[in-house]
Amino acid sequence: MLAFPPDSRFISAEKIEDICYQRLADQVPTPFYAYSASQIRADFSALKNSLPDDIHYFYSLKANPNKALVRLLNQAGTGCEVCSLAELETVLSQGVEPQDIIFVGPGKYIAELTQCCRIGIKAVVIESIEEMKLLNDIAASMGVIQTIALRINPDFIGEKAKLVMSGKPRQFGIDEQLLPQAFSCVGQQSHLRLAGIHIYLGTRILDWQALAKNTLNILSLAESLQNTYKIHFDFVDVGGGFGVRYFDKEKALDIDSLGDALADIIRTYHENFPRCKIIVELGRYLIARAGVFVTRVNYLKPSRDEWFAVCDGGANCHGSAAGINSLIRRNFPMARLGETRSDQQYRYQVTGPLCTPTDLLGENVMLAELRPGDLIGIGHSGAYGASASPVNFLGFGHPAEILVEKDQAFLIRTADNIETLLAPQICQPLSVANA
Ligand SMILES: *Cc1c(COP(=O)(O)O)cnc(C)c1O
Repeated sequence: MLAFPPDSRFISAEKIEDICYQRLADQVPTPFYAYSASQIRADFSALKNSLPDDIHYFYSLKANPNKALVRLLNQAGTGCEVCSLAELETVLSQGVEPQDIIFVGPGKYIAELTQCCRIGIKAVVIESIEEMKLLNDIAASMGVIQTIALRINPDFIGEKAKLVMSGKPRQFGIDEQLLPQAFSCVGQQSHLRLAGIHIYLGTRILDWQALAKNTLNILSLAESLQNTYKIHFDFVDVGGGFGVRYFDKEKALDIDSLGDALADIIRTYHENFPRCKIIVELGRYLIARAGVFVTRVNYLKPSRDEWFAVCDGGANCHGSAAGINSLIRRNFPMARLGETRSDQQYRYQVTGPLCTPTDLLGENVMLAELRPGDLIGIGHSGAYGASASPVNFLGFGHPAEILVEKDQAFLIRTADNIETLLAPQICQPLSVANA
């Protein structure tokens, strides 16, 4: 059994940094997410120290868009990768420089593209020829030149990725076969400047050799495109998809071996393209290990020969732990929080408050003896937590979020309440009558 949680130095079953969970639960209603600032910094600096110096990191807000976390990561040195107007405004509100923002996403539309041009972000990552033309029209109407990168759906596929993003028909990126058209189209756009390419091959990759191979494939394609089209890219965004280990049988990503492999690959690439920057964009790897989801046991009930710990927050707050969006659900690292009462462990089914059997946070998990009122923690919950969960299902709303550093804690998001949940439901007449 791995320690709870594995690979999180600043989080244990007793404390997050210097603070006991019960102290947080005294002030903030459960369920909530708590994040360790020191863990976020430690994970990023360990990565930076292991990988070659000339890599630039962009944080994918999709993994966790909380403003305080975005600010922390940006101050630690990451740029930001955003995919919606709200994510763009989030990073701007935290003082992220336009030159440190890229905008990705297959459905970017007029309001989003207009805002990108107004701000003049580092690059709009173009996902189709149609989008390229629309962006050019918008930039032209505003009298600006917008920098772009082409997102490519390459013929090769991501090795060892949990979700395959390329090598087959996809809404993401421009098919490799269509690149001749795409490059000739870029040449005709008066208000766009092509600065690079972007390839994202998949997520949750734990095998450093697979990541090195993916990077090599991407840089080889970048090299041949620059040679074919007689162009120099400012940057190549090689995606990311670095995984963290959640389960007993997984092995943590070996960032030292990855670093050595990437150093060779990038050195070779830089012999021909010395000024081209390499961008890695990461969500999960930068934030997952820093978060704990804290939920409270409301009932302990036997059913047939099993014990159910029914908690106040379940799949509605933490869909990933419940296996939403995964083919198979496996238990996240989980523990009873607080001081141990005894070393004895018991088998539990940990469920939430929803009226559906899929609201299962832990199946047959071995935990210290539980009593009603106890807190349960789910580790590695910093990424794809509340924002990737059906928080409005059955009307429970978004849980609170807390940032902890040493012996200080900050409420960084209030929980929804009845008022905030019901306010958007109105009955306002629309003028739809025929003239
Ligand atoms: C989801 C996504 C990411 C982040 O993926 P992680 O596995 O969380 O690092 C980065 N880039 C793109 C284009 C994505 O779709």
